[in-house]
Amino acid sequence: SNPGVCGLYNLGNTCYMNSTLQCLLHNFELMKHMQHSCYIIDFNPQITLHSDENGISTGIAHYFSKLLKKYWSGEFSVVVPDEFKQQLAKIHSQFDGNGQHDGQELLALFLESLHQERKTMIKSNVSSTEETTNGHNTDTTADKLWDKYIDDNQSAIVDIFQGQLESTVICSKCEFKSVTYEPFMYLSLPLNSVDETSPGEQTLTLEMCLSAYTKSEILDDENPWYCPTCCCHQVAEKQLRICRWPDTLIVYIKRFLYHSKNAVKVDDEVLFPMESFNPGAISGTRPNRFKSYNLVACMSHFGGVYSGHYTAHCKHPVTGKWYLYNDENVSEQELSSKDNAGAYVLFYQHNAARNSSLYS
Ligand SMILES: [Zn+2]
Repeated sequence: SNPGVCGLYNLGNTCYMNSTLQCLLHNFELMKHMQHSCYIIDFNPQITLHSDENGISTGIAHYFSKLLKKYWSGEFSVVVPDEFKQQLAKIHSQFDGNGQHDGQELLALFLESLHQERKTMIKSNVSSTEETTNGHNTDTTADKLWDKYIDDNQSAIVDIFQGQLESTVICSKCEFKSVTYEPFMYLSLPLNSVDETSPGEQTLTLEMCLSAYTKSEILDDENPWYCPTCCCHQVAEKQLRICRWPDTLIVYIKRFLYHSKNAVKVDDEVLFPMESFNPGAISGTRPNRFKSYNLVACMSHFGGVYSGHYTAHCKHPVTGKWYLYNDENVSEQELSSKDNAGAYVLFYQHNAARNSSLYS
């Protein structure tokens, strides 16, 4: 009788999946879309692979819709996401069995699958990334290329989660400037480059990580860039700029560092804002059309690379209360300072979103 306050049964090391699902099951825009399009309304006739002979969708969107409906019915305190997991493993075989996985990897693959099932194509053969080398206004170019991308990739997933990145590379020899644009589903912020920018004992903030991400870097002799004008590899300067902010901004803190043979987990504390996060105010980004974001969910990871545990904190979209989702167990709980060292994937929603029609 308390919709949204519901655990997910652990099917054997599936805390990574449960925490990811909790964050998505609390995304109001995604819920609205899945509710409205439940089963067949938004069914894409161009894709027959994911439907049976009656036109009923059988893809991952179908199982997520089913789970969402059960989850928000208010009839259960724990739901078993077994059907969802089986379907997921059919599409992405690495999730078969009882192994522990990366919650961020699942999130990226699941959203991409959902997008592929739901997208409608108006035109085809349009490149999603394009290069411009002239001195035109980059915001205009970015918007034009975004519209082109949308022609081929219209989906609720893109509407909700995707933004656009601009990458500028300048050749150190001939000063040829290459500007490319590509959509992103999440920002993957490294922790290590921040250390060089701000040495000392200062605690990292999400703003510092974002600043470091958009700071220019030199592609040196060890990692040179192929300059199409010089027709050879050259040292170059590269800079990223965020030129379109999504409705829901997913920020991935790179806590897992992979080297040739082993992986390392970084437990550095990162302070992140709960409300009024305005990444568009940070230099190297285009001002945010949504003004600012509020945190709505946080997936955390505690422990080492090979033996860790995932939990999720989510804000109830109707009551505004925070809950800690730990597989089957749910408790009303705000984020605390210990979550600064565990926060792994943050979900920010622009604060113009309204949640009033949830139960209607
Ligand atoms: Zn060059």
